[in-house]
Amino acid sequence: MIVVMKPGATKEQIEHMIQRVEELGLKSHVIHGTERTVIAAIGDKRDEHRQSLESGPGVAEVVPILAPYKVASLEVKRERTVVRTGSLSVGNCHLGIIAGPCSVESEEQTLSTARAVKAAGATALRGGAFKPRTSPYSFQGLKEEGLKILAAARAETGLPIVTEVIGPADVPLVAKYADVLQIGARNMQNYPLLEAVGVVNKPVLLKRGASATLDELLLASEYILNAGNQNVMLCERGIRTFETHTRFTLPVASVPYLHERTHLPIIVDPSHGTGHSSLVPRTAAAAVAAGADGLILEVHPNPERALSDGFQSLTFEQFGEAMDLIRRVAEAVGKKIEPAPGSRCRVRIESAAAN
Ligand code: PEP
Ligand code: MN
Repeated sequence: MIVVMKPGATKEQIEHMIQRVEELGLKSHVIHGTERTVIAAIGDKRDEHRQSLESGPGVAEVVPILAPYKVASLEVKRERTVVRTGSLSVGNCHLGIIAGPCSVESEEQTLSTARAVKAAGATALRGGAFKPRTSPYSFQGLKEEGLKILAAARAETGLPIVTEVIGPADVPLVAKYADVLQIGARNMQNYPLLEAVGVVNKPVLLKRGASATLDELLLASEYILNAGNQNVMLCERGIRTFETHTRFTLPVASVPYLHERTHLPIIVDPSHGTGHSSLVPRTAAAAVAAGADGLILEVHPNPERALSDGFQSLTFEQFGEAMDLIRRVAEAVGKKIEPAPGSRCRVRIESAAAN
């Protein structure tokens, strides 16, 4: 249920209602919006306490949350979440561009990529130090040495670091170096891992599992939000279908669909979504046209020699060309990659589709 407070509700009234919700055995989640405060009362119990909560001081109304996910739902928060760290802003009118190699392979490879993607307009650097590989015989990543290389790239370029964490035990180590913790497709339903990143004070980029539905993605994000971390970005990275010409099938419709249901920002990964570097620039542009709040793109100094995912990695030159196209589409749909300091961002909430 959502306890919607009256516009002028006092701090004491809000505190009182939080206490009431918790007394009833429900978990409270408070959202202070620009116009009103709402308290999401979350738990298994359905509507049985609705009437008693409705008679509380300062309460405007109590409404049920219809979606199976709660904190992620637009029903609970009608303002778009913007995730920010350093030069990366994702959400609402902000378009974040996260670019870099699939895997951190060496200092030279990562630093040269960081310099090139920054020069072309990326706002964050990606790079895997812990790699979840399909085969145990494939390169597994440089682990902490890779994290140190990423930190050196940040020190030089200023770009915040997005890197994957593959197990709950690695969360403290990865969080020590990373600015954004990436949860990969293979781990979307690793609930102990979701809970572990939920208690860290760093944004999380949660990728869709290759066979997960969008509801399952939203419910996975709920584990992170519920644990306390509100800085979650969802990522469409393609799903497995009968089609084999592309590595995965990238549903662009996920972007407007998710925007109709959640306030969380949506990132698209056209590199894994297509699996072919030649398909990446146009698909990235299509994602932005569909309203994506961010892109995550693989870039490598020499894709032919990459230790992972070279076939889908852009060269520096191709990334520069892709950015020219992305910028033009972003401008057409009212998204900004580098907003001017102090510039206002219009809050846009598309009406939720009737289920
Ligand atoms: C990656 O980003 O390199 C990666 C492993 O992606 P995914 O989890 O989407 O397969
Ligand atoms: Mn990859």
